[in-house]
Amino acid sequence: MSSSELRDYLQNYDGPEIRIMEVCGTHTHEIFRQGIRNFLSPKINLISGPGCPVCVTPASYIDEAIYLALEKNVTITSFGDLIRVPGTSSSLQKARAEGAKVKVVYSPIDGEKYAKEHPDEQVVFLSVGFETTTPSDVIAVRNAIRDGIGNFSILTANKTMPGAYEAMADSTDCYLYPGHVHAIIGTGICKDLQKRGVSGVIAGFTGEELLTALAIAVRKHSEGGPFYVNAYPRVVTDEGSPAAVKLVDEFTRPCDAMWRGIGMIPGSGVELKEEYSSYDARKKFDIPVLEKEYKTACRCGDVLQGKIRPTGCPLFGKACNPDHPVGACMVSDEGACSAFYTYGGSL
Ligand code: SF4
Repeated sequence: MSSSELRDYLQNYDGPEIRIMEVCGTHTHEIFRQGIRNFLSPKINLISGPGCPVCVTPASYIDEAIYLALEKNVTITSFGDLIRVPGTSSSLQKARAEGAKVKVVYSPIDGEKYAKEHPDEQVVFLSVGFETTTPSDVIAVRNAIRDGIGNFSILTANKTMPGAYEAMADSTDCYLYPGHVHAIIGTGICKDLQKRGVSGVIAGFTGEELLTALAIAVRKHSEGGPFYVNAYPRVVTDEGSPAAVKLVDEFTRPCDAMWRGIGMIPGSGVELKEEYSSYDARKKFDIPVLEKEYKTACRCGDVLQGKIRPTGCPLFGKACNPDHPVGACMVSDEGACSAFYTYGGSL
C-alpha cells in the first residue's frame, strides 16, 4: 500500500475498537510529529507506554545520585535530561546549585574518558536505559578495566523490555514494539508473547513505517486472535545482535527493577556481575537504602501504564510544562507528557 492508501485505511477503519500502545517514546513523538493522530479513526486508540528510560527511572535512583554527589563528593556524569528529573525532594540540577559536581556527557564512554582525565576525582556515570543503551554502558566499564581506571563506576538503573511487556499486557490490545530494541534482542520474546495471547507489531521509525505497522495492527486485530508481525525487517532479524547480547551477558546479570509509577517488575533490570562490583557505584560507595516518602500530584505512573492520557493529569500545561516539569514524563524529550505538550494539546 502507498502512504496515502495506508492513511485512508487508518482514517476510515470501522472494525472493532483497538488500543495500541506505543512502547517507545521515539514512536510517541514521531507519531505526533507526522500528524498521524490527527486523522486516525476514532476506533483506534493510541496509548503512550513506558518506553522512555528517563521517565521510568524511579525517584529513589535520583536520590542515590544526589547522595553520591553531596555526601561522597563524587562527580556525577550523565545525559542532560536526567539532571532535571525530580527525586523525592530534590534534583541533580538543584544539587548542582548547592555545590554538587554534575557534568553532562553524551555517552558513558565520555564519562569514562572524563575519569581518565581527572584521576583525582571519583566519577560515576548514571547508567539508565533499555537494551539499546546497555551495550555502551558495558563498553565504558570494559574500557575502564582496559585502561586501568580505578576512579570510574556506573550507577545502574538499566531495564529490559520483556518484563514490562508482560506487566502492561492488560492495558493494550496490541504493542507497537520498538524496532531498535528488537534489533538487539531479536524477535523471540514477541513470538513467546503471542503464544501467551499478547499481540504486537515491530515498528520502524519513519512515517511510512509507522503507518504500515499501525495498519497491520488494525487489520490483524479485526481478523481476531493474538498475532505478531515484524514490520521492520530491514533492521530487525529473528536473532537480533548476538554480539551485543553476548557483550551485555558477559558483564551483567538480571535483577529486579523499580519502574517509576509502576513499581517493582521482577527480572526487568540488569546489574553488573559480582566480579565487576568495583565498577558498580552502589556497592563501591556502599549507598544506604534511602527511604524517603515521595509525595507528588504527578500522575506519571498512570500515564506510563496507559491509564490516563497526559491531558488527564490536572497539572498538565498548568503547574507542569517543559520549562517547569513536575514529573519525569515532562522532562524527557521522549516523554509522553512532553510530546502531548509540544504537539498534541488534547488529542
Ligand atoms: S503532566 Fe507533569 S505532573 Fe502530570 S503526569 Fe505529566 S509529568 Fe507528571
